[in-house]
Amino acid sequence: MDNLKRMLVIMPCYNEQEVLHYTIETMQKLMSAWIKNKKISPSSKVCFVNDGSVDKTWDIISKAVSENEIFCGINLSRNFGHQGALLAGLYENDADVYVTIDVDLQDDPKCIEEMLSFIENGKDIVYGVRQSRDTDTFFKRASAQLFYRFLKVLGVNVIYNHADFRMMTKRAVNVLKQFPERNLFLRAIVPLIGFEDAKVYYDRTERTAGETKYPLKKMLALAWNGISNFSIIPLRLVTFLGFVFCFLGGIFILIVLYGWWTKGTIAGWASTITLVTALGGIQLLSLGIIGEYLAKVFIEVKKRPLFVVKDKIGLNQN
Ligand code: UDP
Ligand code: MG
Repeated sequence: MDNLKRMLVIMPCYNEQEVLHYTIETMQKLMSAWIKNKKISPSSKVCFVNDGSVDKTWDIISKAVSENEIFCGINLSRNFGHQGALLAGLYENDADVYVTIDVDLQDDPKCIEEMLSFIENGKDIVYGVRQSRDTDTFFKRASAQLFYRFLKVLGVNVIYNHADFRMMTKRAVNVLKQFPERNLFLRAIVPLIGFEDAKVYYDRTERTAGETKYPLKKMLALAWNGISNFSIIPLRLVTFLGFVFCFLGGIFILIVLYGWWTKGTIAGWASTITLVTALGGIQLLSLGIIGEYLAKVFIEVKKRPLFVVKDKIGLNQN
């Protein structure tokens, strides 16, 4: 009778028992209001993806799903990481528009309404962009800023200050499904889809409860994925270094020969050892970089699944 969009809000959850109650309450209010005001279809849902939590996360999700049909849940067989959990939510559900947002509500869910209006106007992807990061720690802010700059230098196209809060139409998600890569860095893949996009700005707030599930180790892993999946500049750098050192080596040989010719002897163990050490270091580093890319190929060719679903509750059928 009407052409209201069926929206699906995907929330990855990893040991989030502290925040879930608040998030469930907030999302219930927001979704009911949007449905009442005819912004979205009444069959729209919020899908919690449990990414192998070891606390009560799945119990809380199951209870919410049994009490309110606005919620549904996907239980992954183990921890696959944030990006895997997002994909599980996108690929296992059928909807007209998909939103991905962190369950701790650091990204403002009220923006979803503004995102919807862009979709109504024919956009296919709407990025949520953080306007201020005042509530992040200095370290998180500085490292994130540095990361975006570095990616840009390396020629990787990501939206500045956009993490994984975005809305996509079914059409865009269908294109995303055609990207077969195992090494996931969604925020650099999504711009490759093309289609028309828009940005919505918001202030990032503090976590409502619990603590970050992105320790430095995971942050670094994600950052390296972002660089090595999308840029071959580190490899080019190795080649470039090779050229530079060949050139310097050539000059060095000329100097040595000249010394031998004019003075007859060559003093200089020190310079030899310095060169050997420096070159050894550069060679090992270069091999390491090449090895990293080789490792990527190794992982890609195995084509292992990015997530494994254990249970699904309350989902709309595809
Ligand atoms: N998350 C996940 N699997 C993981 C780590 C995190 O699904 O292995 C989820 C987490 O529950 C949250 C989102 O990813 O919904 C972002 O994590 P977090 O808020 O800890 O990151 P931060 O905001 O501190 O960068
Ligand atoms: Mg967070």
